[in-house]
Amino acid sequence: MPDPLPSLASTHSWREQLRDAVTDPDELLRALGLRRQDVDCGADAARQFALKAPHSFIRRMRRGDPADPLLRQVLASAQETLPQAGYVDDPVGETGAANPRPGLIHKYRGRVLLIVSGGCAVHCRYCFRRHFPYADNQVGRAQWRDALAAVRADDSIAEVILSGGDPLVATDAQLAALVAEIAAIPHVRRLRVHTRLPVVIPDRVTAGLLEAIQAPRLRTVMVLHSNHANEIDDTVRAAVTALRAAGVEVLNQAVLLAGVNDSVDAQVALNECLFDSGITPYYLHLLDPVRGAAHFDVPRETALALQRAVRARLPGYLVPALVREEPGADAKVVLG
Ligand SMILES: *Cc1c(COP(=O)(O)O)cnc(C)c1O
Ligand code: SF4
Repeated sequence: MPDPLPSLASTHSWREQLRDAVTDPDELLRALGLRRQDVDCGADAARQFALKAPHSFIRRMRRGDPADPLLRQVLASAQETLPQAGYVDDPVGETGAANPRPGLIHKYRGRVLLIVSGGCAVHCRYCFRRHFPYADNQVGRAQWRDALAAVRADDSIAEVILSGGDPLVATDAQLAALVAEIAAIPHVRRLRVHTRLPVVIPDRVTAGLLEAIQAPRLRTVMVLHSNHANEIDDTVRAAVTALRAAGVEVLNQAVLLAGVNDSVDAQVALNECLFDSGITPYYLHLLDPVRGAAHFDVPRETALALQRAVRARLPGYLVPALVREEPGADAKVVLG
């Protein structure tokens, strides 16, 4: 099978890039020509939820800029460990009734979320699953068997969403085996993959992956996660081109983050850049109130005003729905 990205693929495999991700704040700052005193760097916060950023992502950060929007998403802040009223460990209600068996989250009709992996290629400081009990949702063949049995037994489920962590941390062979089992369930018609990997390590989109996530009976949708136009470079564009050429629908969800993308210009640039790259904007999420992320909060009224201003500048199909997750709701709640 030929490599789909011969001219842009790096000499290190995606697994090597994943393994070599930077976890030491000082190494990250050195790579960017910054000193500790230039930035808000929280050593305690990084001990609670480790810093993690692969070199392929760091290369897209601006050197010498402590306010870089990509850096801000990954650098542990001292503000994370301050008391934050209203910010909790499970802001979207994923434990308990919605998590009836390990590895499966069933909140919305017709769609279930399968936790394929607890790992990620990057640690996003605002992540609503930063305190998720992955240890109780260990993924292995046995858990998948139970989760798939539940999907098989419920014919209202038309779509299986591979999630995590990041499901594409799993190998092509693991994914191929899982997708084959999903494709064998007659009432499942759509496979969705929620992943940030093709953005942070575009080399993850290998020929083996393209083969693994497809099955004759299934439509495959990939929902990427990118928050800023600077995240999308030629390597990401090449990965998306390969996905689309394989028949995969490619969408994006972003999170509205203070100091990262909370301006009209940043949102317009992101949505235009996504579309130019073959990615359709899908959702813009309000921040989930997860403990440690309060410094990213954009007040609801500000978000609504921003959304109105973006709508005034872009065609409707380039404006993602502004949504919020509410525990107990039967779908994401659309605002504005
Ligand atoms: C967001 C989410 C989905 C997918 O919702 P869509 O509106 O279909 O994108 C499904 N299950 C869970 C648990 C979710 O959080
Ligand atoms: S890649 Fe997704 S799941 Fe992983 S830390 Fe970032 S937001 Fe969370």
